[in-house]
Amino acid sequence: MKIHEYQAKKILSEWGVPVPVGTVVSRPEDAVAAVRDLGGKAVIKAQVHAGGRGKAGGVRVVLSPEEAQDFAKSLLGNNLVTFQTGPEGVPVNSLLIEELVDIETELYLGMVIDGSEKGVVAIASEAGGVDIEAVANETPEKILRTAVDPVLGLQPYQGRYLAYSLNIKDDLVRPISTLIGNLYKAFESKDFSLAEINPLVITTDNRILALDAKLSFDDDAMFRHSDLVTLHDPKQEDPLEIQARKYNISYVKLEGDVGCMVNGAGLAMATMDVVLSTGAQPANFLDVGGGADEEKISKAIDIILSDANVKRILINIFGGIVRCDVVARGIMMAAESTNHQMP
Ligand code: GDP
Ligand code: MN
Repeated sequence: MKIHEYQAKKILSEWGVPVPVGTVVSRPEDAVAAVRDLGGKAVIKAQVHAGGRGKAGGVRVVLSPEEAQDFAKSLLGNNLVTFQTGPEGVPVNSLLIEELVDIETELYLGMVIDGSEKGVVAIASEAGGVDIEAVANETPEKILRTAVDPVLGLQPYQGRYLAYSLNIKDDLVRPISTLIGNLYKAFESKDFSLAEINPLVITTDNRILALDAKLSFDDDAMFRHSDLVTLHDPKQEDPLEIQARKYNISYVKLEGDVGCMVNGAGLAMATMDVVLSTGAQPANFLDVGGGADEEKISKAIDIILSDANVKRILINIFGGIVRCDVVARGIMMAAESTNHQMP
């Protein structure tokens, strides 16, 4: 589960990660008031579940309440398209209004569950900011990683190792390695699957602040975090994916035109590879799982057909974990209810 930046910052600040002063608003007039409260100057940031906002015009420094009003009006109620969203973008329903910070250095700090390390990897770079993807491609030596032992947790020497790699002033090494330790404690306690602070900035007055924050949580651990479940914002998700979740179907929309209905995640991925190898493009990943009944199969077809790009459907069912006659009946049920002529 993903959450918004303002929610992530609230959680991180509770765990000892310093963040800028800010408020979240959902009406232009409140944006104006918030900017006024901050002395007439602020940063306005679109709250969407996607990065790349800076480059897409979703983050702006405003120098007057009037400018804040114009910018807030242009964002609220519209979709923001960034390189991390689809072409239709994601809706902007709230804005984070923050104190304007004078940046001296932009650093990168991240933690993610890494399958090959079988645990959390902490990542840091002196080259933070909106071009971290280019840094990863062109100068990967500027990105340092250290794998955390899941039993021991992040050790102080690992925090120091990353902090020293950032080429920062000596007096900042200790607070930044403490911050890295705090981030790991939050990661473990709250079952993050990803935490990213980009940029972590050093200000001209020598403060350290998480200027941006992105958190995702492990869906399989949500049952033990009832306080986090309420942070979910369904408006940021694809409506088809929400519908699929209701029926316990794993569905991910893709860009092609071959609708795929498969059971088993591995078979579903292999089927997408087969589609690609023939020169076609899958319209979706869809796993109906084992033990699906007729209604679920029929719903899966409905979901596939709700995607206007779909021109044909490929069904690949492994009869070992679901009965093929049940699948066939579900397909007929969908065909009767929608009258589709899809090959
Ligand atoms: P992202 O593009 O979605 O990752 O959005 P960020 O929150 O990282 O903001 C993008 C960029 O806006 C940052 O890398 C900063 O360069 C700039 N920015 C954000 N807040 C401030 C601020 O308070 N002062 C200044 N000068 N720049 C800011
Ligand atoms: Mn960022």
